[in-house]
Amino acid sequence: MKYDMLLLRFGEFTLKGKNRNRFEKTVLTHVRSVLSSFPAAQIQKEYGRLYIALNGENADQLIAELKKIFGIHSISPVVVCASQLDKIVETSALFLEQMDLKKETSFKVTARRVWKAFPHPSQEMNHLVGSPLLKKFSLLRVSMKDPELQLRVEIREQGTYIYCEVIPAAGGFPRGSNGKAMLLLSGGIDSPVAGFTSMRRGLEVECVHYYSYPFTSRKAKEKVMELAKVLSGYTGEVKLHLVPFTDIQTSFTGQGQDNLIITLMRRSMLRIATMLAEREGAQAIVTGDSLGQVASQTLPSMNVIGRATDLPLLRPLIMMDKSEIIEIAKQIGTYETSILPYEDCCTLFVPKSPATNPNLRIVERIEMNLVHLQKMMEEAVERTETVVITPETVIEADREDGIDEAWF
Ligand code: ATP
Ligand code: MG
Repeated sequence: MKYDMLLLRFGEFTLKGKNRNRFEKTVLTHVRSVLSSFPAAQIQKEYGRLYIALNGENADQLIAELKKIFGIHSISPVVVCASQLDKIVETSALFLEQMDLKKETSFKVTARRVWKAFPHPSQEMNHLVGSPLLKKFSLLRVSMKDPELQLRVEIREQGTYIYCEVIPAAGGFPRGSNGKAMLLLSGGIDSPVAGFTSMRRGLEVECVHYYSYPFTSRKAKEKVMELAKVLSGYTGEVKLHLVPFTDIQTSFTGQGQDNLIITLMRRSMLRIATMLAEREGAQAIVTGDSLGQVASQTLPSMNVIGRATDLPLLRPLIMMDKSEIIEIAKQIGTYETSILPYEDCCTLFVPKSPATNPNLRIVERIEMNLVHLQKMMEEAVERTETVVITPETVIEADREDGIDEAWF
């Protein structure tokens, strides 16, 4: 089908009174940045909607990019004709012809006369457009309730828009419109999904990853960069903070409390993330925790771990089943990378029986006895390397020498 225009509808934020303008502007800026790769396309803004005149640009390619923009609820590719009855009927017939129906299809016309000077009201237009179509296309059956094909006809002064597809887009709130949070990004399946759902809610997300060179390989770090790159596709860019965690992690071994190692690690991760949040002006921490999934995600564990920070701990996946999380990971394009085998720092240090019900007082005592812990965490923050990742970032390909220390 040859389309003339795309119609973009805004998401739920249109309900939000005085913020609406700010939200719409943010979406508009984001749309403009996507359109820079489609130079012929032109934006027209209207109350509650955006129109993009294609001017020959490829509709499918453009839709694939625009679908990722948060704050856009749905997209319809549209054919435009002059607002005259005969032209509307003719174009509608052409539209259906190009759809090339192969089987009997239930159908209705939904006309909307926005331009009140047009001589036929909406109801009448449903018949004026619908009857000739039913005559011409023998596979069409009228159905008022839930038809398979709904031909929408919007009559405006500048032209009439004809379309039937309503393609769901990312929805949520515009990029960065609800503040900033630090996302603890491991190499697993869950945390990238937590990042995506946070971004969709309008949070600007900065990723924090803890690595334990030489226990974790350069590949593990590349994997996390690759995940951050996929996430950057939804907002244009993301910051990734790479925190050296080896010293802290190893300090927890040999305390005679191996079952608490994960608890201790998680608490240190949160403390470091809190310091980074302060430095970066973020107001929350996001993790990929899901209730009961592993020992550190039981309610007692989360209780002890969560006390290590004063910031709100957001756990968007907390009540989701793994199968649901995997489904989203596949949809957003992180799954294939997440299932690559490279170890992250936690997998390597998992004790035989990690505590599912850690004792806060014992944990605090171990931390107190580690006199250098606070200093080590501060050093880790100082030695943190920050990279800005965009969809164009080239992540270093596999090198033969395996581990490259300078790179860490
Ligand atoms: P994921 O699939 O996100 O790795 P998981 O089910 O493997 O989650 P854990 O390994 O217990 O669960 O991690 C729980 C959460 O802690 C992760 O979702 C992530 O937010 C954070 N996390 C774990 N390891 C790291 C790491 N090396 N760097 C940054 N964050 C981490
Ligand atoms: Mg993990």
